[in-house]
Amino acid sequence: MSFIETRGNDGVKPNEVEFSYAILNPMASFGGLYVPKELPNLGADFIADHIDKNYKELAFDILKAFKIDIDDSDINTALNLYDNFDDAQNPSPVVKIKDDLFVNEQYHGPTRAFKDMALQPFGSILSSVAKKMGENYLILAATSGDTGPAALNTFKNKDGIKVACLYPDGGTSDVQKLQMVTEDGSNLKVIGINGNFDDAQNALKRLLDSDTFKAELAKNNMKLSAANSVNFGRIIFQIVYHFQSYLELLRQNEITLGDEIYINVPSGNFGNVLGAYYARLMGLPVKKLLVSSNENNILTQWLTTGMYDIRGKKLILTKSPAMDILKSSNIERVIYDMFGAARTKELMESLNTNGYFEHTSEELAQLNDIFSATCSDDSFGLKTIKTFLDNGYLMDPHTATCIKAYDELRDDKNIKTVIYSTAEWTKFSSTVLNALNEDNIKHKDIDALESISKNYGATIPQSINDIFNAKINHDTVINKEDIEEEIVKFIQA
Ligand SMILES: *Cc1c(COP(=O)(O)O)cnc(C)c1O
Repeated sequence: MSFIETRGNDGVKPNEVEFSYAILNPMASFGGLYVPKELPNLGADFIADHIDKNYKELAFDILKAFKIDIDDSDINTALNLYDNFDDAQNPSPVVKIKDDLFVNEQYHGPTRAFKDMALQPFGSILSSVAKKMGENYLILAATSGDTGPAALNTFKNKDGIKVACLYPDGGTSDVQKLQMVTEDGSNLKVIGINGNFDDAQNALKRLLDSDTFKAELAKNNMKLSAANSVNFGRIIFQIVYHFQSYLELLRQNEITLGDEIYINVPSGNFGNVLGAYYARLMGLPVKKLLVSSNENNILTQWLTTGMYDIRGKKLILTKSPAMDILKSSNIERVIYDMFGAARTKELMESLNTNGYFEHTSEELAQLNDIFSATCSDDSFGLKTIKTFLDNGYLMDPHTATCIKAYDELRDDKNIKTVIYSTAEWTKFSSTVLNALNEDNIKHKDIDALESISKNYGATIPQSINDIFNAKINHDTVINKEDIEEEIVKFIQA
């Protein structure tokens, strides 16, 4: 199946490409993205056929339905990475926490956040494609704390790939930082920045545009690619677990085939919920997609007012940092799907040059047929974590934002809701302890982990315990002006 461009074609780039091309070169004409030209239809028959299949079998069949130009053996090698999850048969288990409320726990992989669900197999596919083409790639990643560990983990020691990962020094949890700086592949470079996540991300964008940097890469026979969710190679794996949510509710006799469900996702770059949007278009019975945001409520503004306006907006640092965002890349794919390339180009150019765009009321109505959105602040999140743990369920601050949407956005109270738990509590233990103790102290992660596990009987996975004793392999912390020089040194080494 081929992939086409969200902003139309510029006459220079190819206007229709295969999957392998789209994942190696994720940026399309005019700064647009690649999207599938058509979607496979995987409705009731497909769902019924997969009741007795395990997760890897489900994922394999969905990937094949997209007719991607990847050999079966490479797909299987990638999917076998789910063996590194807590339960290889069911890497993202669906747990009931209330009569009509379920959690898809997406954090049972090696780095304990939802990024592993897609980055683990994606890393394998990308390196197999690069190898076949005989090309070397530099993957740049800027992280607020979850993408970095997941990207380093999946790409370490892969042939033909180097990874440079930028994180805001002091801006991540202790666990997130340790996951990065203790990673030991010889093809990895982890760089702390004196600054915040925006500084790291802006530095990355400058590099992508820098002629001296590109010349340096070419001299070293390297090309550049990206591992964030603008890459469709991640999105395709993020469709699978939404089918899994539905299948699990069927297996648990909570619904019968054909019943609709609500899917409720804590959102930042809109990649996770985009997977659900595609799953719904492909035939998954989803009544509505509930989009949860934190105080950086740009997505809520977009979906409730039809206006996407970042003028004068400053990023707020919250206790759900993976959702701290102003420019959410993947809304573009929804806009393209609903309103076409010409309109997408117009709206995105308005955002870039004027700092905002505005939908017509007809467009907004079309969006609202499928999406509802709301936002919550940290105090709501802290209270929610405590309330749910008092009832026996421990969740992280990102997951907690979903409860606001669950409380307020369901029009039909007879329909069951699946919320998505995007990180394990162990990555945000200081915040979780703040919630439980009702204090506002910056706890050391190691103390918070111990206190929560002792007082609430919560389990800490071995991989988290181990990083406190692991060797530090990366100690570079630099100013943002020096990033290019540092990465050039790394690719020359
Ligand atoms: C990345 C991330 C999100 C946001 O996911 P998007 O696909 O960017 O919307 C939410 N929560 C956690 C913990 C994350 O790591």
